Amino acid sequence: ADELLQPDMMGSEAEIAFEGALRPKSLAEFVGQQRVRGQLQLLLDAATIQNRTPDHILLAGPPGLGKTTLAMIVAHESGRPLRLSSGPAIQHAGDLAAVLSSLVPGEVLFVDEIHRMARSAEELLYLAMEDFRIDIMVGKGAGATSIPLDLAPFTLVGATTRSGLLPNPLRDRFGFTAHLEFYDPAELVHVLRRAAVMLELQIEESALVEIAGRSRGTPRIANRLLRRVRDYALVHGGAATRDVVRSALELYDVDELGLDRLDRAVMNILLTRFAGGPVGLNTLAVSVGEESETIESVVEPFLVRIGLIVRTPRGRMATRAGWEHFGLAAPDETIS
Ligand code: ADP
Repeated sequence: ADELLQPDMMGSEAEIAFEGALRPKSLAEFVGQQRVRGQLQLLLDAATIQNRTPDHILLAGPPGLGKTTLAMIVAHESGRPLRLSSGPAIQHAGDLAAVLSSLVPGEVLFVDEIHRMARSAEELLYLAMEDFRIDIMVGKGAGATSIPLDLAPFTLVGATTRSGLLPNPLRDRFGFTAHLEFYDPAELVHVLRRAAVMLELQIEESALVEIAGRSRGTPRIANRLLRRVRDYALVHGGAATRDVVRSALELYDVDELGLDRLDRAVMNILLTRFAGGPVGLNTLAVSVGEESETIESVVEPFLVRIGLIVRTPRGRMATRAGWEHFGLAAPDETIS
């Protein structure tokens, strides 16, 4: 169940193939995020008219909301090749220099988790983004010289779950930043209906609504839950009804709000050990034995969004709804 609901966890190979098959190929097919879609369309059209590479794009938001998909769409819609890389794969300036110097003209370079790139590579990237040029250092110490190298013009699409972690000079060099939002239930139903058609799965509308409500506002999770429901219907025979969804998701420990074991562990610690808070994020992370990055980029944004906790200057606090979801009486001074 953990893997099912953790949107940043890479699933099995079958899971990855499944995800790839369901990826929308065009902006028109991409569900929701209407503002972002409009902005991207404009950016691509302007570049086409002026016959130049589109501006660099930063995509920010929690995992599973469509950042990789949008990068692929940018390349596809503008008819350009796409190169995939990621921050953790760029641990030295040289790693980045190798990628940049091998780009073909107009290529779209996608760097996932760009906030995890090495600092030394960031500096190199500034000049590359601005002037399509890098300085390569040759030699060491007093004898070191830098050799300028012209690059093919490219479009950088960076993705980050934590735009606050990007240094300003890097953030400023993106012509456009898109903040992806969690999807509302109607949009997730749309995502699911599309996926069901592609999977040739007969499923009731009320069943789609039930899955959407438990998908944490995240298309990746919606698609994964749909896959589990499909398996369940297959094994137990019969159509995918709302009851089938309920039984299947109960089996996977997903509650009506879409909370999983980690969410519940965080809430449980906050409510019982810290009397509803306020408590710092790191303390919470240590208490549940998770990395604070996971708590901050995956668990917390969702719990805040559904109103179970709030961020205050002194730390995270449970709301009245937070206490009540766990069947506990909220202390009088609790925030609603
Ligand atoms: P991210 O890069 O933000 O972690 P992805 O782009 O990999 O997320 O999306 C995860 C999965 O969710 C993909 O398989 C894709 O099919 C699906 N998905 C994401 N956004 C949308 C959307 N707006 N419409 C339809 N499917 C989507």
